[in-house]
Amino acid sequence: MKHQYLKSQPNEKGYFGEYGGAFLPPQLIDEFERITEAYMKLRKSQEFISELRRIRKHYQGRPTPVYHAKRLSDAVGGAQIYFKREDLNHTGAHKLNHCMAEALLAKSMGKTKLIAETGAGQHGVALATACAYFGLECEIHMGEVDIEKEHPNVVRMKILGAKVVPATHGLKTLKEAVDSAFEAYLGQLDTAMYAIGSVVGPHPFPLMVRDFQSIVGIEAREQFEEITGELPDHVVACVGGGSNAMGIFSGFIDDPVELYAVEPLGKGTRLGDHAATLEYGKEGVLHGFKSILLQTENGEPAPVHSIASGLDYPGVGPEHAYLHDIGRVHVKGATDDETVDAFYAISQYEGIIPALESSHAIAYAMKLAKEVPYDTILVNLSGRGDKDIDYVVDTFGVRGWQPEV
Ligand SMILES: *Cc1c(COP(=O)(O)O)cnc(C)c1O
Repeated sequence: MKHQYLKSQPNEKGYFGEYGGAFLPPQLIDEFERITEAYMKLRKSQEFISELRRIRKHYQGRPTPVYHAKRLSDAVGGAQIYFKREDLNHTGAHKLNHCMAEALLAKSMGKTKLIAETGAGQHGVALATACAYFGLECEIHMGEVDIEKEHPNVVRMKILGAKVVPATHGLKTLKEAVDSAFEAYLGQLDTAMYAIGSVVGPHPFPLMVRDFQSIVGIEAREQFEEITGELPDHVVACVGGGSNAMGIFSGFIDDPVELYAVEPLGKGTRLGDHAATLEYGKEGVLHGFKSILLQTENGEPAPVHSIASGLDYPGVGPEHAYLHDIGRVHVKGATDDETVDAFYAISQYEGIIPALESSHAIAYAMKLAKEVPYDTILVNLSGRGDKDIDYVVDTFGVRGWQPEV
């Protein structure tokens, strides 16, 4: 039966198995109920669906292509690798898929402003873009460390008319940006909506963002079949919060296709050196939802590290925790070093500079390709790497990449 899984998860309270839900301060309970009610109505509205379809085609540039990375496949010497080119979305990543839809929802609820956190700045840029398109105010919270590292995206947000608020506490990265944005939201509930940047946060966001990203999987399934006459054997995506992964997974979840969530293994396995939440985390509640989290001994969110700012979050979407538990998705990792190698491999063998986030997925796909030489692998190339070039060159130098012989 088609879409059996998607219809069955989450339940009406927003639980995927035991994960998800909405753990909210009292001031936010009514507001999230209003958002849920508005969205449940809107998702069935023909007007909403056709407006979104129109925006995606004429403004975002969808459908994005599926591309056979033949030179890379030959060089790696194994399975045939394909990319779903989300880097070709307007603003350079998959994030606009949910931002345009979140803005449309906010507008239909009579809101005049969107508030959000951002890690790499990609969600901030995508949201600032959506706000400019719809004529909404935009307030983006960002860790001070990320502001420094992702300077071009900060400038983009400002040019697009957004206000950028630095998060100055703790490690000054993504987790602190979420704290800061939630606090600001509490004071502006009448006019603002929080536009969460991934399949995380309280219900209905994990469901909603999955719905908005599912276009990636719908297109990819059709396009892959058109090119090869079959479905891919393996589908690989990187996981920060998990939105690009859920987007592409949702197209294949009821099919006999192996799914792989690739987490950042960073510099090593010690707590603080990576952000491999599903691999090393345990159950807990953070930012309003229950999931698997990286925690310190006393239950605080752990410090995390990844060279990809969009992946360094100590939590993960509740649906990924569930899919991991039931064994539907394989959880894998890529280290910083393997990621930088993949970044240069794709640049020099395919002429595509990938985002460091996406380079994690590619790094794992290159390993997998050797293990399954007669198979096909579809990788979600979630974004382009222009934002990362200065950081990579300053930190790692300009490298070549040589296939192993
Ligand atoms: C933000 C981002 C990610 C991580 O977010 P998910 O919700 O896990 O998809 C991955 N790739 C790119 C290019 C991003 O900008």
